[in-house]
Amino acid sequence: MPRTISLTSRSHLRELLAYLRHDTLIAFPNPDRHGCPSQTVLRQMAFRRTKADLTHLPVSHIVSCSPCFREYTKLRKAAQHQRIARMMIAVAASILLVVGALALWTRRAPIESPRVAETPIPPAPLATVMVNLASMTRTRGGGAEVTRLTLPAKRFIGHVQMPVGSEPGSYEVRVAEADDSTVVEANVQARISDGVTSFDVELPFDDLGGKQLTFMVRPAGLTWQRYPIYVE
Ligand SMILES: [Zn+2]
Repeated sequence: MPRTISLTSRSHLRELLAYLRHDTLIAFPNPDRHGCPSQTVLRQMAFRRTKADLTHLPVSHIVSCSPCFREYTKLRKAAQHQRIARMMIAVAASILLVVGALALWTRRAPIESPRVAETPIPPAPLATVMVNLASMTRTRGGGAEVTRLTLPAKRFIGHVQMPVGSEPGSYEVRVAEADDSTVVEANVQARISDGVTSFDVELPFDDLGGKQLTFMVRPAGLTWQRYPIYVE
């Protein structure tokens, strides 16, 4: 009695395919192997190694010849196992690559010792050095006698005391080397306290030992007042 299968779901379709497969495995004995393709062709088909068009492949023969269908099914399973094995090898190779890269990275990365905690040392606050412009004679064009201010060859906060009578407010500050290259350029706010006008400015003189510099200051936009400095 013919079996009836309703194709209402995916599982029913699978059932139908299994039924047909089982049927094909036994329904067409072909003991003399009439019209059978060579083992090579079957293998090429099973391993998907043929570029031939589907119409040129002996598909209709295979589904109507039980020996060929059995052989093809066996070869197809082998091909699928080989594909899975290759995939697993590729996955294993990728894992090895990642592990290798991680090992290399951890070897290169500095090892943090719990004993030597690498807490960043906060930079020491800069020392404040008095820069008393009030005590100096300004240089004027024509080579007037000048008093030279000596300042240390380090980075420090210059507490600049302005000449008597200087107004509080915005000032531009510039420190230049002998060739007029700029060492410091800043805008500052001068404040008056006990009759002395002063401001603070950071002076990075750490690499300037032995140099003659010019300390310049002016109310924004007006004429520079110049003071010679020696760094030692
Ligand atoms: Zn055959």
